[in-house]
Amino acid sequence: MRKHIFNAGPCILPDVVRENTAKAIIELGTSGQSIMEVSHRGKDFEAIMKETTELFKEILEIPEGYSVLFLGGGASLQFAMVPFNFLNTKAAYLNTGTWASGAIKEARLFGEVNVLASSEDKNFCYYPKNYVIPKDVDYFHITTNNTIFGTELLKDLDSPVPLIADMSSDILSRPVDVSKYDLIYGGAQKNMGPAGVTVIIIKNEMLERVTRTNIPTMLKYRVHVENDSMKNTPPCTAIFTVREVLKWVISVGGLKEMDRRAQAKADLLYNAIDASKVFVGTAVKEDRSRMNICFVMKEGYQDKEADFLALASSKGIVGIKGHRSVGGFRASCYNALDISSVQVLVDTMKEFEKSIS
Ligand SMILES: *Cc1c(COP(=O)(O)O)cnc(C)c1O
Repeated sequence: MRKHIFNAGPCILPDVVRENTAKAIIELGTSGQSIMEVSHRGKDFEAIMKETTELFKEILEIPEGYSVLFLGGGASLQFAMVPFNFLNTKAAYLNTGTWASGAIKEARLFGEVNVLASSEDKNFCYYPKNYVIPKDVDYFHITTNNTIFGTELLKDLDSPVPLIADMSSDILSRPVDVSKYDLIYGGAQKNMGPAGVTVIIIKNEMLERVTRTNIPTMLKYRVHVENDSMKNTPPCTAIFTVREVLKWVISVGGLKEMDRRAQAKADLLYNAIDASKVFVGTAVKEDRSRMNICFVMKEGYQDKEADFLALASSKGIVGIKGHRSVGGFRASCYNALDISSVQVLVDTMKEFEKSIS
């Protein structure tokens, strides 16, 4: 039986995507070869790469003057590539969680880091708002969705300096005004595909800002832009699956529909949490993430966590154990998770509540 997959990453994928990937792993079209076997320089894969790029540009309405890259290394490698290429003297960061802290740590290897605001004082349960972006920094880096702590920035900021965003866990969940950003990156495995490929949207003008001369070849954005992500062998199978996800996104109505679904799922679950005598949300309401919904048991019930996890597991629910830095539960409601799975979780919460009161 198919489970209700609330995993924080790698994420649930649509059935049609799993089916088409399974077929291509056996044989890609009528090529007589698997997607794992074809040459990345052959016409079959070249067409896949081209279509994946075009679909991605279409879905996100990426303006002229931007390049899209599909690289390895995960979002974590971008924590280092961004400052290696663009931090010449000083950069500004928001510290909104574990991943943002990781990005800051890497940036400090390359120059001065100005942490404009941090929500660490309250275990990252809110998204900082009152800060001023200085004009004398090379760029401003944000993490739009904090996967571990369940907070999210649902608007596109105006920035006087290049704006760089880690959108690993909420990319493709709503329409985004890409023109406000100079670089967006994300590991595919949260909302876009399987692990193994990282998507980067980069404004071509950014390449002119690189002054450091000792950047290793494979860490230079310019090299990847000039080689259409084919400087070395790209993660072909993961890219194929991303293409299937993009086709699925278009087939169900694009980012407007993803946005509507994300809101409907989040409303359903947060309303249940807020109405509960047993469960309580951890993030402040105005900054709640639609992707990663974090909640714990209220005081007096905390010894019942394992019981709830066991009940949930008996209903086919997987992946709701919270990250150790928050505890409790985290239900990740990525694009491919159907609202019927959220309903099963809500029903299970109600059943549990009845059983203990
Ligand atoms: C998961 C995650 C990362 C790390 O991604 P990898 O691809 O595993 O390196 C970075 N940022 C955010 C917001 C994440 O959710």
